Amino acid sequence: MTDAFEQQHQVLLTASPLQRVGAFALATLAKVDHPGQLTAERFTTVTGTMTRHLLATADVAKAADAGGFWLSASYMLWPNSKINPTARGKQSPAGRRELIMQWRAVPDPADWPGAPCAYCDRPACKWFGKVDIPLGASSEHRNTTAPGHEGTPLCYPCVACLWAFPYGAQLSGGRATAIHSWDDVFLAPVTRLAVQRTLAAAQAPPNKTKPGPYARELAALSAVRAYGQRLHSGVELIVLSNSNKEQFLRTQEMSQPIAQWLRSTVTEPNRRTGYQALVAAQATKAVPGEAFLAKRAFGDSTAILFRTTANLLDRFSAKGAIPVEAMGLAPLVYSYCIEVLNMDEKDVARIQDLARRLATLLGQDSRRGPFTTFMRANAKGGNLYGWFRSQSVEWLLKTRPDKMQRTLLPVEDYRLLFDDDRAWPHRRLLVFAVMEALVEDNWQPKGSTEELEDIADVAANLADDDNE
Ligand SMILES: [Zn+2]
Repeated sequence: MTDAFEQQHQVLLTASPLQRVGAFALATLAKVDHPGQLTAERFTTVTGTMTRHLLATADVAKAADAGGFWLSASYMLWPNSKINPTARGKQSPAGRRELIMQWRAVPDPADWPGAPCAYCDRPACKWFGKVDIPLGASSEHRNTTAPGHEGTPLCYPCVACLWAFPYGAQLSGGRATAIHSWDDVFLAPVTRLAVQRTLAAAQAPPNKTKPGPYARELAALSAVRAYGQRLHSGVELIVLSNSNKEQFLRTQEMSQPIAQWLRSTVTEPNRRTGYQALVAAQATKAVPGEAFLAKRAFGDSTAILFRTTANLLDRFSAKGAIPVEAMGLAPLVYSYCIEVLNMDEKDVARIQDLARRLATLLGQDSRRGPFTTFMRANAKGGNLYGWFRSQSVEWLLKTRPDKMQRTLLPVEDYRLLFDDDRAWPHRRLLVFAVMEALVEDNWQPKGSTEELEDIADVAANLADDDNE
């Protein structure tokens, strides 16, 4: 066997997420842990397995019939390919099988184009177009397409990985959804699970149940939280369709810090305790809390803090007291601000100290009014600086216990709240920390229900700031 021929049986991991998911899917189909363990023999066996799955559709009349899983998926994955030609209905099963075999066969080395593979640089075996390479997946390599050629040169192992990609994805709702990460140790088990589910789905009757909101993001969140090791890279959610009706590719990223932090809500006992309260705080009428947490974990990370704070305030308005869950949430909120929102530990400590002074100030009053005034000053259009000015003298002359510092808002704290890129998250953290400190002090305010409606108003305003 020549070197080139050897190479045509060796799967390499490349810079293409789709190819990488496919490579790990091939490994799973071959019952090995890593693509690097695919020997030439195993590689041949496993590409044969994929072809067999397609050949099985030759006896199926329609995609919706039993055994039609891969035929049905082919319209979304490989439109106008040899598994689903327009004239399919008139072809015999033998004729269909013949076409599928041609499509998936290794091209004769004599016919190779003499160009390097766009993904791995080894000799390509053929030019491939959108039938085999989903839209967008090839665009990053568009420059390598030689003039006069339609498509992208790929070697056989790389194109086999693209064919294997759907096994590592969830095929539903006309889309293929895959979880990818540059952390191979994470990608391996996540892809393995996806392949097992796809193989099971291929055997089962079509699943007609409508998925809940943000089901794809939620699945990624569950994968991250179920993972047993440290995550070294972020997690990407790839959703694509290659169909004639709709060519679609969307990649969203859950950053490494938030993915790792979400894991810590399982592994660290003091964070695990508050997780359900954090989840509940994210919910809306239409979207369950964990689904919305997952959605926000992909690129809207400050909203998780803002929602948590607004929700506590909202529940205060409903119950007349600050929910005791504020205590359980504290380890989550502070670690989130430091590890995910990138706040400085010293700044967080300053905000906690300031909150302690404010809780002393507000907690001396058994009325809810002063608390509400402070919260309103934090909301959109509120004058927080004016509020501090009006309270500073009061603090200095009347409220301050001897052990606490004389200045209510020292200049360093002023900067954090009014002159910092993260001023809004800092203020929201302050709102949270004040509520936590008041719960700690067992503050039991009294007052009318009208006042509670005021607080509900402020809570709605704070929640609205999500979109800032
Ligand atoms: Zn290649």
